Parts: sequence; structure tokens; C-alpha cells
Amino acid sequence: MTALRRKIHTAMSILCYRSGLCTLPYAPLISTVGITTRCNARCRFCASHGSGSTILRPCARKHEDMPLREFERILDTFPRRFDSLGLSDFGEPLIHPHFPEFARACWRRGVRYNITTNGQHTTDEIIRAIHIYPPQEINWSLYATTQEAYEFIFPGGDVEKTKANLRRLLRTMAPRTVMRLRTIPIPALRGQAENIMKEFPNCQYDFDNWLDSWAGRVDVSHFDPEWKKHTARSAHCLQPWWHCWINSAGGIMTCNVLDEPIGHVDDGLMNVWNGNAYREVRRNILAGKRVGRCEGCDYRNNMTGW
Ligand code: SF4
Repeated sequence: MTALRRKIHTAMSILCYRSGLCTLPYAPLISTVGITTRCNARCRFCASHGSGSTILRPCARKHEDMPLREFERILDTFPRRFDSLGLSDFGEPLIHPHFPEFARACWRRGVRYNITTNGQHTTDEIIRAIHIYPPQEINWSLYATTQEAYEFIFPGGDVEKTKANLRRLLRTMAPRTVMRLRTIPIPALRGQAENIMKEFPNCQYDFDNWLDSWAGRVDVSHFDPEWKKHTARSAHCLQPWWHCWINSAGGIMTCNVLDEPIGHVDDGLMNVWNGNAYREVRRNILAGKRVGRCEGCDYRNNMTGW
């Protein structure tokens, strides 16, 4: 998808949102097709894989891989509907046993894709695939450069392993791929943003004030006593006018906060997009209420500045 088409789509989404339309005259962009909901990590703020006192209500999705054939079918069924396509949805894409083939499937169809990864499972085969079929962007959840700080987020994780993998990948990665290193500004990770920039200069960085409770599933006060500064207060959200997500079972979601999909790709994208359930979500958001499927959501809709 070209930048111009993306801008037109976004402008149309904002216009329809502001006009209070619940039935939309256009199809959504598909922002994510999650290729797996499995993960090798057990991060303390992850509602899908974390455990212990930080998790108030686990995300009830099944942990499974999307078959390659199903992924290719989705790419072929909805051509030109992909905004830079995320392959990560509550799962670690690099542990999918066929990740190189997924990268190739995107590349062959001209679909720009991006991944979010903890970088622990970066084999030579994956590094080669990323070199040959370069993603547009890699969001590397590095969080810290010291083991103690890293383990605060990822118990049992090995920071030296992820750093070594990152160095190997940076040596061969195509210049067109943006490497974005992430951490979160919370007390336990103080100073880590500076460490990351020092150890890995010439990358891009995401040190946003982001700490999501995943609709109240995660007790973010464990991470920052001043947790309120991280969460959005606004009831507004553009997602149901703009994008949709597809999970690893082909379910269509308004965003990645939901447990249950709102429909399935086999039901027809437009049928689901303008079906009762989607329209109800839009009506509630327009009424300023985060209820029903959106109950407890504290997603920060930075896109529109609300
Ligand atoms: S759950 Fe949150 S991010 Fe998803 S559509 Fe509702 S308000 Fe938007």
C-alpha cells in the first residue's frame, strides 16, 4: 500500500468517525495477521503468557500457530488491504517454525511487513530470511542491557543472548529495514534507555510512556507506582473505523485487546466490518463509553491525539 492510499484511508476514517457513522462505505486496512499466539517468553506484563500477581485476568486465547497455507490464503483474498502488516499478536513470530516462509510469502506479494520480537530465538535461518525478505520494521523488545533489569520484565530471559542476536542481525540486515529498540520508562528500568542508545547507536528507539493493562488484565501498579500517567483516560478510539486485526485462527478483531474475535475471514471482511457486533462497538465509542467488548480498555490512541 502506498503512503498516499494510507493517508486517504486514514482521512476517511477520521471523517466517518467525526460524522458519527457506524456503517462504513469502505473496508478496513488489515494491520496485523498474527502468525502465532505462542511465545517463548513469560513477560510479567503479558496477559497472554505472563503469570503471578501482576496478571489479574489472563487473555483467554488459545496458543497456536497459523498454518502457512492459511496465511497465504488471507494475503491472496485481501490484496491491497494491508497497511505495513504486523505478524505479531500476543505471540513471538520468530518461534513459528515456518517464519522464513511467511516472510517470503509477504515479499513475493509486495506486502510490507513488520515484526515485534523479544529476539531470543534468532537463528541463522531467520537472520538469512530477514536479509533476503527484509521487513519494513523490526520492533525489538530489548528493555534493558543489564541482566537484573531485563529479568524484572522477562524472568528467566538472557539479556546477553538477545544482545548477541541483535548484533548478528544488525550486521546483515538490509538498510531498508528499520530496527527500533524498545524499553519502557518505569523505575526498574531507569537508565536503560541511555544504555541501549550507547550500546546500539544508529538504531531507532521507542521509549514511549507505554504500559498497557490490556483492558485491566494486568496490574500495572506493580511496574510503576505512578501507573496512572501511563494509561489513557479518553473513551475515544479510532480503531474500529480504521484497522482490523486477524488472529492466528483467522478471527477478525477490532484490535488486539479482545479475547474473542468478532467474526472470521470466511464470513467476508465487509460483512463483519459492518455487522452488528462491529457497529455496536462503534456506537459505544461514539457515546463515549468503553463497555462491552471494549470494557476496561486503556489503549492509547496516539494516532489522533485524543
Ligand atoms: S478495545 Fe480499546 S482499542 Fe479496541 S476497539 Fe475498543 S476502545 Fe478501541
